[in-house]
Amino acid sequence: MGLTGLGAGFNTVPSLFQVAARKPAPQFSITMDDFYWQNAVKLTAAERNQSILDTLRAHSIKAMLFVIGRNVEDDEGKQLLSAWDQAGHAIGNHTYSHRNLNAPAADVKTYQDDILRAETLLKDYPRFRKYFRFPMLKEGDTAEKRDGIREFLASHGYRLGHVTIDNSDWLVDQRLTARLKNNPNADVKPYRDYYLEHMWSRASYYDSLAWRVLGYPVKHTLLVHFNLLNGLFLNDLIAMFKSKGWQPIDAEEAFSDPVFASKPKVLPAGESIIWSLAKEKGILAKTARYPAEDGDHEAARMKKLGL
Ligand SMILES: [Zn+2]
Repeated sequence: MGLTGLGAGFNTVPSLFQVAARKPAPQFSITMDDFYWQNAVKLTAAERNQSILDTLRAHSIKAMLFVIGRNVEDDEGKQLLSAWDQAGHAIGNHTYSHRNLNAPAADVKTYQDDILRAETLLKDYPRFRKYFRFPMLKEGDTAEKRDGIREFLASHGYRLGHVTIDNSDWLVDQRLTARLKNNPNADVKPYRDYYLEHMWSRASYYDSLAWRVLGYPVKHTLLVHFNLLNGLFLNDLIAMFKSKGWQPIDAEEAFSDPVFASKPKVLPAGESIIWSLAKEKGILAKTARYPAEDGDHEAARMKKLGL
């Protein structure tokens, strides 16, 4: 080989750097699920609500909140949600009772009724938008369920509020909440650090998977939950993404990405839309775990760290 071979090798280096430099800054939006405010600890529900809304305003981000209908039946729930509406955030449908469509007992008709029941509670908010997010990101374990609900949603004018960056923020919150119930003065910083590291790991994974699946810079929808963890650390989370060069965009802008209209024909259906498309295209590693994200994956590590 000798010098000629080396020369050819060196010549390819600058072009690789150029490619890396040309790669645009990843864009991400905040999509927040459940609106389960009744489990207030450390912050009251109103304080948690205010903290999250203040953070979004400080970063000039319009999020989309996917609401479980039963959380906004009483006056307090309605008031808390009105603050989102007035702040200009979009409101989406996350069913009335948060059923798992992949459960063997779940049936299409009951699930459809659950969607409509939530719509009744949400439709009069001016910022309600017909976006639907599947609870637990489970879209059906049979073709009958998967296609039945997809057709139902389309015929009712719904678009899918898919997640691109899935994660287990809810598990970190669950363990933080349990710790604070035991000891209200417990140090919350280790939970913050774990959370940020976990979210960055998941974002990096799904962003690189998205490049492999789509070949273009997808507009990300980051999944987070309305919980204490985000009441305390959503600002740190957004600041971290910005510090890594990621650019925040509004959720409705993110949903304009064509990826959200795709309907991967995989079973069980669901998870991150990126993961699902990767599975359909056969580019997931044979060892890829299912569910793609689950508390079990994090619980052992957190336990080890004393969290
Ligand atoms: Zn949910």
